[in-house]
Amino acid sequence: KGLTRFENEPFADFTQEAVRQAFVDAVAVVRTQLGKEYPLVIGGQEVRTADTLQSVNPANPSEVIGTICQASTKEIDLAIEAAKKAAPAWKALSPEERAGYLLKAAEIARTEIFTLCAWQTLEVGKQYDQAQADVAEAIDFMEYYAREMIRFGKPQRMGRAPGEMSQLMYQPKGIAAVIAPWNFPLAISCGMSSAAIVAGNPVLYKPAGPSSVVGFTLSEIFRKAGLPDGVFNYVPGRGSVMGDYLVEHPDVALIAFTGSMEVGHRIINKASVVHPGQKQIKKVIAELGGKNAIIIDDDADLDEAIKEVLHSAFAFQGQKCSACSRVIVVEPIYAKFIERLVEGAKSLAIGPAEDPTYFMGPVVDDKAQQNVLKYLDIATSEGKLLYSSPVPDSGYYAPLTIVEGITPEHRIAQEEVFGPILAVMKVKNFDQAIEWANSTRYSLTGAVFSRSPKHLEKAREQFNVGNLYLNRGSTGALVERHPFGGFNMSGIGSKAGGPDYLLQFMDPRLVCENT
Ligand code: NAD
Repeated sequence: KGLTRFENEPFADFTQEAVRQAFVDAVAVVRTQLGKEYPLVIGGQEVRTADTLQSVNPANPSEVIGTICQASTKEIDLAIEAAKKAAPAWKALSPEERAGYLLKAAEIARTEIFTLCAWQTLEVGKQYDQAQADVAEAIDFMEYYAREMIRFGKPQRMGRAPGEMSQLMYQPKGIAAVIAPWNFPLAISCGMSSAAIVAGNPVLYKPAGPSSVVGFTLSEIFRKAGLPDGVFNYVPGRGSVMGDYLVEHPDVALIAFTGSMEVGHRIINKASVVHPGQKQIKKVIAELGGKNAIIIDDDADLDEAIKEVLHSAFAFQGQKCSACSRVIVVEPIYAKFIERLVEGAKSLAIGPAEDPTYFMGPVVDDKAQQNVLKYLDIATSEGKLLYSSPVPDSGYYAPLTIVEGITPEHRIAQEEVFGPILAVMKVKNFDQAIEWANSTRYSLTGAVFSRSPKHLEKAREQFNVGNLYLNRGSTGALVERHPFGGFNMSGIGSKAGGPDYLLQFMDPRLVCENT
């Protein structure tokens, strides 16, 4: 009651000096808080462990962001007990009451937005605009799922048979394990966790190692919102130590995972085995990778297309599941497009994310850097190098790279790099462009630049991806306006920020009374 219609959190207006300065100031403040030790938070209590992990600034690895305690299986057991204890009272609250906690948390995030951005800039190398989009998305998820839960919370009458009151309603599934990636360090963690929580499921939240301090900021938001102890438990840990144990735990009813295809497959596999004491079949939501293509038709508006391809491929160093890693260009416009693409790429400077003169920053860690360099070798052996940018000497930087002469058989056309490498593929015509666009196992995002209504229609029907964008780039999905997620090897699960998402966190029940 009294809740306004959902609206997306606005983006920061960087034309204003005060807004630009607020980001710089927040980074300076956060810098005074670096290097602390972060405990786990289980049942509202801080829990420290002997095993710790250091999180560092990828632009300057000698700058330690924080030292994070790491859960072993013992702490997972503790967190399961805390979640079990919290579950009945949390489930018993009305959907409106649970939604109220999310709205409060959203308000806290809004008030602290610059600080929350600064942690991301320093911990994972997000530029200010990218960090702000991430925090805004986190706020959107909480505002949207709060409203969605109120919608699903009302029992729905089924049929109209006289003498019968038949109602469909939803109840929480049970304890949820939320396993998150580092690339949208607040938004994705917050989206999966807030959906689980508002639907009535206590959460064990495991952030990715490289973004564990940002993960702690989420824990703090929920604490400040007054969430009852044990409803959200912060349990960072090594996938290799506690990942399987968490997934296989007989008391975990639901796993919400976003990350790589390989880890996703492992989780789906492990979660399918029923263990002694287990009462339910585990539900797995798995949002995985992509090998996303943008098609450039012969009549494309190149002013738009070049800008959008560069942004989709290289913003946040290409480390988005929705990033464009293949650009498929029809022959008549090929030479002109390539020339302008490379010229545009040369104008993109690379340096620390906290300095807004740089378009591109470091990749997240040394492992990511080595991975990009490995694929750079593969790409240049398979195709012809068009451009590879200079990079700063120190820090985990990887060059912005464009290769041409790539065809669907090449590894660089099939495997997700998750970094700033763009494969250019030349095709004879639009039909072949669609065929090549659909030639991978992934089906996450895609885009087309064309002025031909016939070609746009063909793409609408045949370009087989979860999120298809016509005459715009492949990244930047907004909650409610662009429900997000793919299929095939890009994942199982219904779209985040969309009207079906919460249903995955609940069991439907039908109660029919003869009246
Ligand atoms: P990742 O798969 O390496 O890690 C994801 C999470 O899984 C981390 O928290 C990690 O610690 C954990 N993990 C690792 N091994 C585990 C195990 N055995 N059991 C349980 N958990 C384990 O992925 P990442 O590097 O953090 O993120 C990048 C990947 O995420 C890319 O493939 C990207 O495309 C994908 N992604 C997909 C979406 C989407 O919505 N489809 C969004 C963002 C990122």
